[in-house]
Amino acid sequence: MFQASSRGTGDDQRPSAPDAGAPLAGARLLVGDRDAATAAATAEALRTRGAAHVRTAASPREFRAAEHADRVWDLAVCDSAFAGAELTAFLEDWHAHHPAAPVIVTEDRPSADRAVAALRGRAADLVPRHDPDALARSAAHALAHPPYAPQAATAAAPAPEPVRMLVVGAHPDDVEIAAGGTIHRRADDGWDITVLTLSPGGGGGDPAERRREAHRAAESMGARLVLEDLPDGSIRDDSSTVRVIERTVAETAPDLVLVHSDHDTHQDHRAVHRSTRVACRQVPRVFCYQSPSATVDYRPNRFVALREQDVEAKLASIRAHGSQAATRWYLEEDLLRSTARYWGRYSRCRYAEPLEVLRDAAPVHTH
Ligand SMILES: [Zn+2]
Repeated sequence: MFQASSRGTGDDQRPSAPDAGAPLAGARLLVGDRDAATAAATAEALRTRGAAHVRTAASPREFRAAEHADRVWDLAVCDSAFAGAELTAFLEDWHAHHPAAPVIVTEDRPSADRAVAALRGRAADLVPRHDPDALARSAAHALAHPPYAPQAATAAAPAPEPVRMLVVGAHPDDVEIAAGGTIHRRADDGWDITVLTLSPGGGGGDPAERRREAHRAAESMGARLVLEDLPDGSIRDDSSTVRVIERTVAETAPDLVLVHSDHDTHQDHRAVHRSTRVACRQVPRVFCYQSPSATVDYRPNRFVALREQDVEAKLASIRAHGSQAATRWYLEEDLLRSTARYWGRYSRCRYAEPLEVLRDAAPVHTH
């Protein structure tokens, strides 16, 4: 059953065509161990059991570089002392980037502290560090039972109604900047998402061009766009604006609404916030996102964890607003990425977008 192979070192090539019957046939594995020789020996043992591609890393830094260089991983193996006291955070970071790929922790001798850290980091298993047979068995089991894949029981159940989310913004690109990653992530989760932009943004460029860009941007995030025609710079906080918003609320019947915060220096943003509060008085959940013009009084208390692909999609949606990107300081990609990275500290993930809860009257399971 096990194939013979020559001993490889470092980042490796597959030794020969994998045996389709081997326990790890075709799998792509990333092995982190504080000792390079142990990592290489572990990798070799996994290769002989059919793994198609095994890459090794002898430090968390090497691990991250390898992790993001290849991106498509079926499973990771991580020595319990590899990330030191940061083991749980290290494992969580792995899950954030590879939600369908389990991670197995290896250890020299049982330790309650490390077991707790591995458990908190949702490790699939804890196995002895120098026992390739136990590791291969555990890896084969974990690959057959991925942590987040739909199980048979849920596959048989009727598909739940998608959550309906409405994201309201004053101008083209407001929503992308503030919640583009959240929209992409939830669209990926199957949510039904509408973006309502109240002004075509005549004050910031050619309206026809901005209109085309806005549609492209919404589409790239996985949302549909409703673009209204209120005057850029003088959106009013009155019943006429409320009625415009109510129209889309009635059409989309949202479970959840995202909108500008009242803590914002832009008068249009505040007017949209206040009118939306009125128009969405029956919506169970209303949260406020952070615009570049938000003030220090903006105080988020909910954080949407973003994956690398959500951040990439957010940046792509902003690039779709080509006429703005060159002239606006707040559209610089390093600022957008580092802002998401900053908020990640509150979400136990690498990246996040913040929300301020205005109303949350729904059962928690629909979050
Ligand atoms: Zn705006």
